[in-house]
Amino acid sequence: MESIRRNSSEVVVEGGMKIYQCQTTNCGYMYNPEKGDRKGKIPKGVAFEDLPDDWKCPICGAGKKMFKPMGG
Ligand SMILES: [Zn+2]
Repeated sequence: MESIRRNSSEVVVEGGMKIYQCQTTNCGYMYNPEKGDRKGKIPKGVAFEDLPDDWKCPICGAGKKMFKPMGG
């Protein structure tokens, strides 16, 4: 049986796309490429790097620059 490491400091979804987390204080929103961003009309399967430059955090409105890859 395949073992899955659930290490919170390393979260990579299928396909090698990384989950990015908003670094703004009290936000912590995570962009999951497998889910996309319904509020921002981003379909699932879109890597964070491929989000439009004017994409913003659906929770706090921070820009892409405020995001960092988890475990990266
Ligand atoms: Zn945010």
